[in-house]
Amino acid sequence: MRECIGFYICPVCFAVSEEAGEHHDRQMVHCDELPVGDERLKPVINKEGDLESHAPRWFLEAVWEAAGMEFPSK
Ligand SMILES: [Zn+2]
Repeated sequence: MRECIGFYICPVCFAVSEEAGEHHDRQMVHCDELPVGDERLKPVINKEGDLESHAPRWFLEAVWEAAGMEFPSK
């Protein structure tokens, strides 16, 4: 059975890698591997039901965390 290790993504060009490293002079952001159907795989919808971002929640959480902030949950 494969271990759940996640992956790294470049927040500038979205290149992905299995190993940590730099891309575009920035540290790539670590993302957990998520199970199919996980809420964080979906785009962020606000309380009014409007789309807040086309980016999925896992990406926003990872980028905010890399910036030292916690992504606000609904
Ligand atoms: Zn890049």
